[in-house]
Amino acid sequence: MNTETRLDARSAELSANLSTLTARIDAACQAAGRAAGSVRLLPVTKFFPASDVEILYRLGRREFGESREQEATAKVAALPELLGERDLSDVQWHMIGRLQRNKTRVVARWAHTVHSVDSERLAMALDKAARDALEAGERDTPVRVLLQVSLDEDPSRGGLPPAELETLADLIAESEGLQLGGLMAIPPLQADTDSAFARLATLHTLLLTRHPGATELSAGMSSDLEVAVEHGSTCVRVGTALMGARPITSA
Ligand SMILES: *Cc1c(COP(=O)(O)O)cnc(C)c1O
Repeated sequence: MNTETRLDARSAELSANLSTLTARIDAACQAAGRAAGSVRLLPVTKFFPASDVEILYRLGRREFGESREQEATAKVAALPELLGERDLSDVQWHMIGRLQRNKTRVVARWAHTVHSVDSERLAMALDKAARDALEAGERDTPVRVLLQVSLDEDPSRGGLPPAELETLADLIAESEGLQLGGLMAIPPLQADTDSAFARLATLHTLLLTRHPGATELSAGMSSDLEVAVEHGSTCVRVGTALMGARPITSA
């Protein structure tokens, strides 16, 4: 296959997967008695090439989720040329994976939203990086932050213990470089996703009483998005069901 034929085939595949996913999300909204369009699809493009992001852009997508800093930074840099240097200011990149403090400076240059903030130390490093990026003209708006909450208190998987949410939310709401957007969670392995997402929804309701602007609830992936939508998700992060299987990896 020549390059053009290959891109056409991939484009047809991604377009079909997008239609299937949109129908799944619409059906989940309907089943939950929620308005169609109250849940956004965030395509997760990690492990897939920038040419796939290009195709998704041409299919009308403007938000993309990535989980590894180096890979994401390279893709962000590659996209303008792939798309013929058109104005990409409407593209929003989401950092959804674990973030190390020493990577915040780079991520603050491209991330519209970071879904994985789970400690005060990380939040403060990201705030500083965001303020520097604002000052240098590398971004126009504060970094939107979702607090990643741990639903099983297993620190190895990332996420903040629920008891620490309020303090960190207040801190972020006060910081100049960050904007508190809401919550994110990944259900624990082996967990009953229904009770995990129900717990997350309760925590989100509580957060909203103090921070009414923190409306985003990033929950649900390829295998459990219906359950997440039932429990108030506003953003489902979908990789496999859109892009296909990723290479086996521990990341
Ligand atoms: C990879 C990833 C996803 C997408 O998972 P799929 O099961 O492939 O849909 C969602 N959220 C996070 C944080 C991820 O790292």
